[in-house]
This record gives sequence, C-alpha cells and structure tokens, in this order.
Amino acid sequence: MTPHVFASVDWNISAERHKGMAEVDYQMQCRTCGAASGNKPDRASGKCWAMVHTGDNPAHRQYVQLARTFWRATPGPSNPEWQGGT
Ligand SMILES: [Zn+2]
Repeated sequence: MTPHVFASVDWNISAERHKGMAEVDYQMQCRTCGAASGNKPDRASGKCWAMVHTGDNPAHRQYVQLARTFWRATPGPSNPEWQGGT
C-alpha cells in the first residue's frame, strides 16, 4: 500500500455572506418527474411552485426540498495564498 502524505496548509472555512445575497436558498423538486422550481429565496416560494405543479399534474404529489448554504474557504496567515486582511 502506498502511503499518502498531506501537506498541512492553513485554510479557514466560513459561511459566505454578501449584501443582497440570501444566506440560504431553496429548491423544490418533484419526485415524480424531476421538475424543479429553480432556486428560491424562501421556503414559501418553493411551496407555491409545488402547488402549481400539482395543479398542472394532479398525479405529482411528492416533493423534496433542497436547501443550499454558501461557504468560502480562505487562506490563513501561514498559507502561501494568504494576501493579508480578510
Ligand atoms: Zn412532476
């Protein structure tokens, strides 16, 4: 077995927040046909999409809701990628 060697490099990861950017977005997906709502800024918008989808396709009654959060890795001071500050 070949040993694996990993270099230790200083990275940090944290939730990414920008002005005007949702911290979480949601997508509703039909489990029958796979159609999806697209990314919505709140749960209610996805639920509305699902109700319309079921209205148009009465046999499509099961959904999965996906929630995305956004993260950013940034180099720490000992990392060669570090450029100071943030
Ligand atoms: Zn469907």
